[in-house]
Amino acid sequence: MAELKTLTGGCHCGLVRFECTTDLAMVTACNCSICTKRGLHFTFIAPERFVLRAGEDNLKEYLFNKHAIHHQSCADCGVEVFARGTKPDGTAVIALNVSCIDGIELAKLKMTPIDGRSR
Ligand SMILES: [Zn+2]
Repeated sequence: MAELKTLTGGCHCGLVRFECTTDLAMVTACNCSICTKRGLHFTFIAPERFVLRAGEDNLKEYLFNKHAIHHQSCADCGVEVFARGTKPDGTAVIALNVSCIDGIELAKLKMTPIDGRSR
């Protein structure tokens, strides 16, 4: 099993910064409209393992479809950093855009295909 690591990251311009603890065991490669158009690869993190260090006031929210997922982007550079959602059992979850993790290399991650398009 992958080990838990504390990682930092943020948006492109650096106004939005976070720290999180994750093993990156599951990273989505989803074919839904927003993941495709924004190039999003999410990993899901419990809210207590995600801390926004800077840029709370600089976040711009985007909602679509059922408004179930609250997409959070930097108002300046436009990069989506994370989204707030709830799991089917009702618990809150953070969907972190793994591309925002400092030094990440997407090609080295194991991706899990998700068929979001047909849901
Ligand atoms: Zn930014």
